[in-house]
Amino acid sequence: MSDELKPCPWCGGNYLSWAVPGEIGHVTCSLEYGCGARGPMGLGGVIVQRRWNRRPAEDTVDALDKRVLELEAENEHLRARLEDANKRRMQAEWRG
Ligand SMILES: [Zn+2]
Repeated sequence: MSDELKPCPWCGGNYLSWAVPGEIGHVTCSLEYGCGARGPMGLGGVIVQRRWNRRPAEDTVDALDKRVLELEAENEHLRARLEDANKRRMQAEWRG
């Protein structure tokens, strides 16, 4: 994981301050140069950074992309089976 904080999800600002390692705090977007948004609280350092960098909407999009790929593969498989069944039915009808 990158050591960098992602830009503020609200204003895109990069003027961020964050909790001192070992202390409880949160990432704050500068009120002077940004929007003043605060990230989730946590024990300073990696946890606060991870919580700030987490973007639930991106997680949802990633999960949906994965599901779409699964469904497309399943659809392709079922389409092939249907075509195969149709061929066999037509052959059976020809034989009478
Ligand atoms: Zn901001």
